[in-house]
Amino acid sequence: MSSSQLGFNTLAVHAGAAPDPTTGARTTPIYQTASFVFNDVEHAASLFGLQAAGNIYTRLTNPTNAVLEERVAALEGGTAALSVASGHAAQFLAFHSLLQPGDEFIASRKLYGGSINQFGNSFKSFGWKVVWADSDAPESFEKAITPKTKAIFVESIANPGGVITDLKAISEIAQRHKLPFIVDNTLATPYLVRPFEHGADIIVHSATKFLGGHGNSLGGIIVDGGTFQWTGDSRYPQLSQPKAEYNGLVFAETFGNVAFALACRALGLRDLGPALSPFNAFQILTGIETLPLRMQRHSDNALATAEFLAKHPKIEWVSYPGLEGDKYHALAKQYCPKGAGAVFTIGLKGGYDAGVKLVSNLKLFSHLANIGDTRSLIIHPASTTHKQLSPEQLREAGAGPEVVRLSIGIEDVADLIADLDQALNS
Ligand SMILES: *Cc1c(COP(=O)(O)O)cnc(C)c1O
Repeated sequence: MSSSQLGFNTLAVHAGAAPDPTTGARTTPIYQTASFVFNDVEHAASLFGLQAAGNIYTRLTNPTNAVLEERVAALEGGTAALSVASGHAAQFLAFHSLLQPGDEFIASRKLYGGSINQFGNSFKSFGWKVVWADSDAPESFEKAITPKTKAIFVESIANPGGVITDLKAISEIAQRHKLPFIVDNTLATPYLVRPFEHGADIIVHSATKFLGGHGNSLGGIIVDGGTFQWTGDSRYPQLSQPKAEYNGLVFAETFGNVAFALACRALGLRDLGPALSPFNAFQILTGIETLPLRMQRHSDNALATAEFLAKHPKIEWVSYPGLEGDKYHALAKQYCPKGAGAVFTIGLKGGYDAGVKLVSNLKLFSHLANIGDTRSLIIHPASTTHKQLSPEQLREAGAGPEVVRLSIGIEDVADLIADLDQALNS
């Protein structure tokens, strides 16, 4: 059966995998090897010249990682994928295939804090300039476009949670200006939102979060939608111009609708090097088998917790798009009808001190800087990740002194609510 006939739950368990041809092992083995033996000299030459598919060295490809790549491509409905060492590595390699020194891209201001740093600080040393726009006002992306703009970047469900991006509205702007539209689908996963169905061209993931889902392995994925026409487009020389080291090969012409994923691998990963360990690929692959079950439970638990907190006398506000009356509720119904994910923020009436007290008094929730674990997690940004900022800067970052971010796990929701209640009242 071809992948396109199978349902999401089946793909989550089977896509890309088959019993090991040598040993019969039913789960995908961890191919813990740096390199692979060539059949003969001609075989080696064809692999190095990209004329044949096969394994050379684990920085480029690895059979365990290949199963993970095929599985995430199938779940997202893309043509190909590339697994890398972290979500940040995925973003880095995606932009490396698109941008030249002096180029610009437009990104939503509502992003994971680490992405704001990566785009705004480190990318500067490559001559790549980020221009910020407001995902609540899609027209702000169109206004920011200049002749140097080469891509648009947003998160589907955006950090620090509680924001749903109008993907269709922004993708129409990208299409009008022939710009690739990149969506970070980390918080949603393809179970909740399928960005390619709403006009995305490229998807990136931190697989560290819900895809792996158990808080035990870092990883990142780039998924190629196969939709963008790179051929002959001189704005994207990595894809449209001959590559001398591959005998004048032009990625867009030779590899068609998988050219972007291949360029990220054979140019970006080859030269920049953030390869995913096969062990981590195995852990993430195992996590993905239960992705549909976990994401539904995460979302159901988050909604019940948000409803409880919205009525709690110690809580000023709850920002969760699953709640009726929330600013993003209509967009949530449009883009993620099965649930609005696990991550959201609350505001405490008692301000900074109440935030410190809450994270200190919780017993089941872990106080740490991560999301997308089976376990429930909490963080008070003002006393941790954002401690160096002034009260004004805190507010601009959406991390005022009263703000607490939760990532709701898959425990019994009654236990989570009881833990929050005792910590709020103590
Ligand atoms: C964590 C995260 C990243 C970065 O991923 P790492 O695996 O930590 O490098 C990028 N985007 C989002 C939305 C994230 O939550």
